[in-house]
Amino acid sequence: MQRYLIGEPHWRAGIFNPEWDDQYIRLLNVALTRARHRLIIVGDFSFIQAKAKKAFIGAKFIPFLLENYPCANPLDILPYGFATRASKTHKIIYGGETEPHSDRIVVTQDSFYGMFVKDLNDAKHRIVIYSAFISESRLGMLETPLRAARERGISIYVITKPITERKKREQDNYEKFESSFDIWGITVVHKRGMHEKLIFIDNDILWSGSLNPLSYSNTREIMERRKNKTVIEDFAGTLRLDDLIGGYNEGTPICPICNSEVVASEGKNEPFYWRCIQKDCYTRSIDQPLLKDGIIKCFNCGSDVEFGEWGGKPAWRCINNKRHRQRINRSHLRLPKMREKIPKGKLKELDKYYGL
Ligand SMILES: [Zn+2]
Ligand SMILES: [Zn+2]
Repeated sequence: MQRYLIGEPHWRAGIFNPEWDDQYIRLLNVALTRARHRLIIVGDFSFIQAKAKKAFIGAKFIPFLLENYPCANPLDILPYGFATRASKTHKIIYGGETEPHSDRIVVTQDSFYGMFVKDLNDAKHRIVIYSAFISESRLGMLETPLRAARERGISIYVITKPITERKKREQDNYEKFESSFDIWGITVVHKRGMHEKLIFIDNDILWSGSLNPLSYSNTREIMERRKNKTVIEDFAGTLRLDDLIGGYNEGTPICPICNSEVVASEGKNEPFYWRCIQKDCYTRSIDQPLLKDGIIKCFNCGSDVEFGEWGGKPAWRCINNKRHRQRINRSHLRLPKMREKIPKGKLKELDKYYGL
């Protein structure tokens, strides 16, 4: 059985080809009927079904198995620590790790991944990867070190473009990549129009340059690795990295008006603000706290707020501390629970002012 299936290339292709069905039905029959006590079939079923849509194995055999027998994800069966072990093997395949020779080095695409994988393996607390694009092959290569890092309890964030910014024909793929991240325990952060190529390893190492870490294939690129706390603080501060990631502490941020996703977006005077993916729906400034149940709270102390006018300017004021005030912006007027706090006459004025 094995001799035929793993033998000549045309035999391998054959099982996906409906013209070979007779042969393979016979071979499968011989193999499967040998079992006396237990039969375990291991394979990438979705791959086979996609590649053999018309052949027996993809059209009938796999669907039959899935319908009639229990199916398990091998990662649920394999012992914890598997990714760590796999990552060690992985290192050997990719030529081992490369130790950078100084705190600041510039490399091309050829030596980047060896060092990057070493940095992933050495990370202690947090890994942040800015990559506008993601590809299946690159993800396949980085899966083991990323999952090994998750097994060690390291937080991992991937900052990338929202699905809505992908080309229509690529959206399904990106949905798939992002659901893989979800399964691996990696947080995906969406930022509109993002194009940065950066990697933060703890507050220790920064990679920057021209290469999209999660999608590189074969172009000429250059990357700089710096081990310098001041440089990292500069980058993280400019990008408001902690605020950005903090927005995802309690899961994907959701629009309090329409329940769509809220994504980070570049502003003119601030590195980003939060914005509903639905046009003209809801926005929130970077330093405003996430809304819960569509209610704005004092951003200093988290208490309730009330409406008022101070110096002719309408604002929300904290009920616990008169000095805690925040301005009213357009999207606040779309929150039903906040509208209730504004006297009718004022509400009309404000709606008119904001063109609602
Ligand atoms: Zn919305
Ligand atoms: Zn307050």
